[in-house]
Amino acid sequence: MARIGEIAQQIAQEYEGKEPHLICVLNGAFMFHADLVRAIKMPLTVDFLQTSSYGDAKQSSGEVKLVKDLNFPLSGRHVILVEDIVDTGITMHYLLHYLSGRGPASLKVAALLSKPSRRRIEVPVDYLGFTIPDAFVYGYGLDRSQLDRNLPFITSQE
Ligand code: IMP
Repeated sequence: MARIGEIAQQIAQEYEGKEPHLICVLNGAFMFHADLVRAIKMPLTVDFLQTSSYGDAKQSSGEVKLVKDLNFPLSGRHVILVEDIVDTGITMHYLLHYLSGRGPASLKVAALLSKPSRRRIEVPVDYLGFTIPDAFVYGYGLDRSQLDRNLPFITSQE
């Protein structure tokens, strides 16, 4: 939570005088997004989208699909895409391409976790919580076969 507070302060400073639009990538980012927006002490708006999940697999299929689209237009908005974890980068790469085509005034990425050793496509992460090694993690919104999203902490599988 301390790190989220720091990111929130940085966002509030960098977006002073603007109303950032924080898009949550469901399902995994729902807790991080909720805590982050609460910690940003300025007017802002939110929206939600959902990409196809891994299902019960732990490896990306390499194919991303949009399962739930945005509710609001992005034209002229200062968008911050909020992700739980950047792993291979495939999901983020797809989303950045998709969102940039919808005319935002600016587009940045906030991710709670990053596993750089797993990257297959380089993607920018403007606000990063923590860099972690190559291990499968769950809790705090991240799932283990759809379970354990409700754990109030993040842990890793042995
Ligand atoms: P990428 O497309 O490989 O970067 O994967 C991004 C998505 O995979 C994340 O948004 C997560 O939903 C999921 N993911 C990747 N690594 C993990 C993990 O260690 N635990 C839970 N979900 C993960």
